[in-house]
Amino acid sequence: MLEDSYLWIEKSLTTIHQANWYRSVRTLESLPGAEVVLEGKPVINFASNDYLGLAGDYRLIEAAIAAIQTFGTGSTGSRLMTGHRELHRQLELEIAALKQTEDALVFSSGYLANLGAIASLVGARDLILADEYNHSSLKNGGILSQATQIDYQHCNLADLSQNLAQYRSHYRRCLIVSDTVFSMDGDLCPLPEILELAEAHNCMVLVDEAHATGVFGDNGAGCVEYFGLTSFPLIQIGTLSKSLGSLGGYVAGSKNLVDFLRNRAASFIYTTALSIADTATALAALKIIRQEPEHRQQLWENVSTLKQLISQELPEINLLPSASPIICISMGSPSQALQLTQQLREQGIFAPAIRPPTVPTSRIRLTLMATHETQHLQALVAALKTSINRHLA
Ligand SMILES: *Cc1c(COP(=O)(O)O)cnc(C)c1O
Repeated sequence: MLEDSYLWIEKSLTTIHQANWYRSVRTLESLPGAEVVLEGKPVINFASNDYLGLAGDYRLIEAAIAAIQTFGTGSTGSRLMTGHRELHRQLELEIAALKQTEDALVFSSGYLANLGAIASLVGARDLILADEYNHSSLKNGGILSQATQIDYQHCNLADLSQNLAQYRSHYRRCLIVSDTVFSMDGDLCPLPEILELAEAHNCMVLVDEAHATGVFGDNGAGCVEYFGLTSFPLIQIGTLSKSLGSLGGYVAGSKNLVDFLRNRAASFIYTTALSIADTATALAALKIIRQEPEHRQQLWENVSTLKQLISQELPEINLLPSASPIICISMGSPSQALQLTQQLREQGIFAPAIRPPTVPTSRIRLTLMATHETQHLQALVAALKTSINRHLA
């Protein structure tokens, strides 16, 4: 029977359930923000990538509406055909200005930006050295490129250096690839040292600033700015979907890099241009990031307030090392993580369990926003206390 060819899917689902790896979507029924309605219940939201709280800002909403009224909904084609509007170019120039690079190229998502950039920059004769905790889009970009891809241990410069010494000379080009803020751990890559190694071994460096843009650096440009490395030749990837409250991705770097990708990146050339609403939204967000540093300052205040509250009230909790608004509570097993998430939900706190295969060890992942108030952070700590006491009882 033809149906028999698909029986493996059901078996595979059973395995996923048994391992406690099963995932499903949850419906958010309100504007995004620190307080949202999730599946009909109000909760305090510690699961959003909207670090500056801009996704529900009326100025972004109005920018999207105005753009749609002028230009319509669909962009109707790829950028190189009928999809390009002046707003796309304005957005690229604003991104380049924020990043202090010569130019930038906008893609329809951050995932597509990574696939397109990596697959264009290296090929079968080349080497990629990648942090083992890199985002899925970086890993799949490496696979698509057909380069030899070797993972080095997470943030381990000795391991990176050893791999360079052992393998670099066997390949034509070499690309070192890393997240700057690791999305499931919240720690930072040692970028200054990575750049030193890159120089010594004649490598290109591609960094993914998805969780850093709008959050790190004096102007919110990201970790490259935070580390004082904006003048170095780098390939910087980012997304419009996190701090910028929109959708889309970009590559920022030299004029030649951008020109080359515009001509070579398949995920730029053969997909429909970013929607005009998303483009206008991201432009409005960049303006706010430039003019209102107070959102970023408030976010960092919230980070230090929460860390302080946890160390005072919950010294028994094991936090993963973090230098960002992503703060993870280490859990012994996927089922323990799920249980704590469930108990927090019952107390009106939304804090997801992150489990294998996304990460090697289970955890509760908290992300902070500029729009969290002290009472939100206190409610989180109180709920954690109740759950953990119940655990020990
Ligand atoms: C979210 C994310 C992406 C993907 O960006 P999208 O615009 O959502 O496709 C890429 N890299 C990292 C590190 C991310 O966290």
